[in-house]
Amino acid sequence: PESKLPALGTTIFTQMSALAQQHNAINLSQGFPDFDGPAYLQERLAYHVSQGANQYAPMIGVAPLREAIAQKTAELYGYQPDVNSEITVTAGATEALYAAITALVRPGDEVICFDPSYDSYAPAVTLAGGIMKRIALQPPGFRVDWAEFTALLSPRTRLVILNTPHNPSATVWQKSDFAQLWEAIAAQEIYVLSDEVYEHICFDEAGHASVLAHPQLRERAIAVSSFGKTFHMTGWKVGYCVAPAALSAEVRKVHQYLTFSVNTPAQLALADMLQQHPEHYRELPEFYRARRDRFVEALSASRFKLLPCEGTYFLLADYSAISDLDDVAFCQWLTKEVGVAAIPLSVFCADAFPHKLIRLCFAKQEATLDAAAERLCQL
Ligand code: PMP
Ligand code: GLN
Repeated sequence: PESKLPALGTTIFTQMSALAQQHNAINLSQGFPDFDGPAYLQERLAYHVSQGANQYAPMIGVAPLREAIAQKTAELYGYQPDVNSEITVTAGATEALYAAITALVRPGDEVICFDPSYDSYAPAVTLAGGIMKRIALQPPGFRVDWAEFTALLSPRTRLVILNTPHNPSATVWQKSDFAQLWEAIAAQEIYVLSDEVYEHICFDEAGHASVLAHPQLRERAIAVSSFGKTFHMTGWKVGYCVAPAALSAEVRKVHQYLTFSVNTPAQLALADMLQQHPEHYRELPEFYRARRDRFVEALSASRFKLLPCEGTYFLLADYSAISDLDDVAFCQWLTKEVGVAAIPLSVFCADAFPHKLIRLCFAKQEATLDAAAERLCQL
């Protein structure tokens, strides 16, 4: 058939993980932990299965999970979303992003995003008939130039998609960025899709700046998160979005026919986990800071130049002292010949991205990180 997405291939994450497996390489490419999530969470899943919680969950998510999300949001961002009308549980953040884009973007609408950008946004915009308008951020800071942003706005601008802590750059937005965003869009009916899946993996002293902490912006925003990142269970595919009632109603119109509802016992187990062990997410920055620092220290003897990592479980490394290959070719070579798989940055950019940068995932056991660093230090 004639393709609706002719230029699109298989995601870089699937490609690189397959290549890693084929060459028995240490896989620091696709972002997932090589250790398990909390035993308590696994026990609660088994418990709820044994109690017969095995039929459809309510379309918007089970009540105890929505209540726990409301409490956590109030604790962290000073805003308590309404349990019934403002929180929707989704099949991972991926589904929330897709449902939000599908619900909001009309044919001919313009959508602004910041490159490098996570790979699931643009295809959803294209399928909805929207037009991507991209702002290219530059390493090492990947900061938004707000004059450039304002110049890109047009009467057709409908949605801005942002991501903080940011995959793949590992930078974070400050409160001042949200203030500038609001100043730029206040006068127009523009919505904000804020991808905050790494909200609990933020090393910034000030903590994660959420769109939900901004009183005006949150009236226009859909904030998206994922329990996969927070509880080391990417395979569970449970996420959620928080948005004002009118926006949530539109997202739910899509969600109810995309998946209808999400895995019931997993939702109940996650509700127990959030309620009984809030220290898990409170301690997550420290948990990942230790891994990041160990990996950075181990790589200090290498010829890679490391970029600052303010959040997420990704570290960017500049390999210009090691090779002239472009980043895609370098990642393939690194996987096949050195036995370490990484993700090239250029795949997250629509325009040429001539920098020699790769993304390394440090959500790994210490032994995995040490073994990878040993190989990388030999280059
Ligand atoms: N957004 C970003 C920035 C991500 O990194 C990811 C997953 N790695 C997702 C969304 C998707 O999250 P989920 O696995 O919960 O669908
Ligand atoms: N978001 C994960 C990453 O950035 C991958 C998720 C996926 O494979 N779709 O590595």
